[in-house]
Amino acid sequence: MYYSNGNYEAFADAKKPEGVDKKSAYIIGSGLAGLAAAVFLVRDAKMVGDKIHILEELDVAGGSLDGTKRPHAGFVVRGGREMENHFECLWDMYRSIPSLRIPGASYLDEYYWLDKEDPNSSNCRLIHQRGNEVASDGLYQLGPAAKEIIKLIMTPEEEIQGKTIEEYFSPEFFKTNFWTYWSTMFAFEKWHSLAEMRRYCMRFIHHIDGLPDFSALKFNKYDQYDSMVKPVLKYLKDYGVKFEKNTHVENIIVDHEGKEKIAQKIIIEHKGKQRKIPLTRDDIVFVTNGSITESSTYGNQNTPAPITYAKGSSWKLWENLAKQDSEFGHPEVFCENIPDRS
Ligand SMILES: Cc1cc2nc3c(=O)[nH]c(=O)nc-3n(C[C@H](O)[C@H](O)[C@H](O)COP(=O)(O)OP(=O)(O)OC[C@H]3O[C@@H](n4cnc5c(N)ncnc54)[C@H](O)[C@@H]3O)c2cc1C
Repeated sequence: MYYSNGNYEAFADAKKPEGVDKKSAYIIGSGLAGLAAAVFLVRDAKMVGDKIHILEELDVAGGSLDGTKRPHAGFVVRGGREMENHFECLWDMYRSIPSLRIPGASYLDEYYWLDKEDPNSSNCRLIHQRGNEVASDGLYQLGPAAKEIIKLIMTPEEEIQGKTIEEYFSPEFFKTNFWTYWSTMFAFEKWHSLAEMRRYCMRFIHHIDGLPDFSALKFNKYDQYDSMVKPVLKYLKDYGVKFEKNTHVENIIVDHEGKEKIAQKIIIEHKGKQRKIPLTRDDIVFVTNGSITESSTYGNQNTPAPITYAKGSSWKLWENLAKQDSEFGHPEVFCENIPDRS
């Protein structure tokens, strides 16, 4: 799939790559990224389904889009996606995934038809003083603070490394409706990374008009596990892709050959027992490091979810990889220094 050259290349079927029949793939995590990797391996790389292994620590697939019935809590979905037109890989994938509800349609068709007939928008985005006072909804109230956003976008990322949003913006900025719209839409806190905020400004610049009424966004008919994850699971299972649940990947042992890094074995824990999966040079390993729902805890109607500092498998795996080579990044930047409250 290539989009760099108009749609000329986007719609042509991929040619089967040489040597793919000798390969097996191990995908760590069954979140949307892992599921999409499996779909593209089946569809574009023409890999046989039973050579694709998805290793998942939970007993449910979907990652941040999971959906489980929890005793005394109800049906819980930990994450979600506000979707928009420019999710290029996602829409490319869903054009190949059959709808579970409309015979002969893809899930992209189903979703597109729904959004066309029932587009998303909100008549009241901000409520002030429990609705007793009229909020100036629809206005950004940015005034001179608009220049702070422009300056941020124009500043190279290297110059803002390590800074928080609060360290950069003026106190006036945080009183604006823009900040309320922004932080509630994209889940930003003042102590979050300024570089991440800059990336979001650039990524979603085309949505500025749709921020105050949510018309920038699209939503599924049901929760995202039922709407989005289930059709992909059916597609992959029909192709014979193997799901290994309750399987914690503890480490991937990597050897160095010159500048190349070669995965030698995967170390997993399943039902209290450690096991090693040996790899050959033909095997491929995909890791989606970090997870937005990792270490999540649960609250209920009366009690907020408690803060935890315990690291889950995703962080531990990333730390174990980073210990082997600094090119695997710096997980501590993302999983340390969580404030006691925000
Ligand atoms: C509250 C919230 C709001 C969000 N809003 C949006 C939004 O508006 N728009 C948007 O596009 N995105 C949004 N997201 C993000 C979106 O949900 C994620 O980007 C996407 O689901 C990430 O997919 P992923 O596969 O990379 O990771 P995840 O969905 O996190 O999946 C990772 C999977 O890997 C498993 N795993 C991790 N480590 C290991 C290990 N060592 N061994 C075995 N299994 C492991 C985990 O159990 C998990 O199932 C939001 C997320 C949350 C939580």
